[in-house]
Amino acid sequence: MAWLRTILHADMDAFYASVEQLDNPQLRGKPLLIGVDHPRSVVSTASYEARPFGVGSAMPMVEAKRRCPQAIIVPPRMQRYAEVSEQIMTVFAQFSPRVEPLSLDEAFVDLTGTERLLGSPDTVARNVKRAVKQATGGLNVSVGVSGCKYVAKVASDYRKPDGMLIVPPEEMVVFLAPLPISRLWGVGKRGEEQLRNLDLRTIGDVANADPRWLTQRLGSLGAHVYALAHADDPRAVVPDREAQSISSEETLDVDAVGRDEILPYLLRSADRVARRLRRAGLRAGGVRVKLKNHKFQSFTRQVVLRPPSQASAVFYDEACKLLAHFDLNQRFRLIGVGGYDLQPEDAPVQGLLFGEPERKKNDKLDRALDSLRERFGKAAVQRGSDVGARERFGLPTGKMPEE
Ligand SMILES: [Mg+2]
Repeated sequence: MAWLRTILHADMDAFYASVEQLDNPQLRGKPLLIGVDHPRSVVSTASYEARPFGVGSAMPMVEAKRRCPQAIIVPPRMQRYAEVSEQIMTVFAQFSPRVEPLSLDEAFVDLTGTERLLGSPDTVARNVKRAVKQATGGLNVSVGVSGCKYVAKVASDYRKPDGMLIVPPEEMVVFLAPLPISRLWGVGKRGEEQLRNLDLRTIGDVANADPRWLTQRLGSLGAHVYALAHADDPRAVVPDREAQSISSEETLDVDAVGRDEILPYLLRSADRVARRLRRAGLRAGGVRVKLKNHKFQSFTRQVVLRPPSQASAVFYDEACKLLAHFDLNQRFRLIGVGGYDLQPEDAPVQGLLFGEPERKKNDKLDRALDSLRERFGKAAVQRGSDVGARERFGLPTGKMPEE
């Protein structure tokens, strides 16, 4: 199996604590708890010297002090951490323009297509580690490289601290198999419990389960974990945090009141977002509706899309359903629809689990409408469902407001 995509995940080791030890040599080699010494505060980061005592992030400070009384408590210096964060993000950007920061000390870097320029994944990983150490004056970063985001992230954590692990695409499933289900992404405590109740303890157990049985028992969680267990994670590395969603919002000349007045705008925004996704070659894994009332208060509701979509009809349907979750007894001055959790359109989707024929039908219709619009202008084409909706709600069926 070739490296269709090469994704690197970099994560600094015990970031805040390591910065403190870097800046203050007297703290080196000592157990540190970064946080405020207050009865109700929690630990931000524990240095590696403190971790054998069973303390870690998010633990109440009181409990951490009890377990590791000799620890030195250091109040966090966020400004300094942000400064170091800049340094490491600048390093990542030297390897690829496609860097997606997840937090101050963690990022995905899309290395797809850089092999000729930068060398093998192994070489790049080493060079990233060296460059981070140099730029920061001595800090360690752990690095994982694999064929998708999920496995790259698991890999960077696998040999921490100062870790490095390359998992080639053909080894991803085997690598994941022995790991506990707690390593599945986005599952949570409740999800773990559900999996354990089905006697699924390792990621391999999930991979070997019958996908239909999994979805029957667990719904969309079943499809999600089955895909992850097979290292099927098509999410793209999206450079800009903002760019992780595509949205279309409209500020109205006259406030809209009630569902009927909102729907035409919703349809237009949904269609516009879906079209932009199709043009960009992306699908969205979720739809979001945003309404702003005349007092400038914003409200958003969102829903996960399975499978991910770029179909206008799907966006409109989901947006309509989301309307039921707003208090519509007020006047709205802004209406918007957005797609988030973007991924490449050619990413594989589990045909068995998801309605593939339906998706193909929608895709075909959308592409036909897109090409008609391009040829004859936007007003030439109106969706049947739009005309229907307008008639149902007694709205004029004439041409849509101009884009
Ligand atoms: Mg970290």
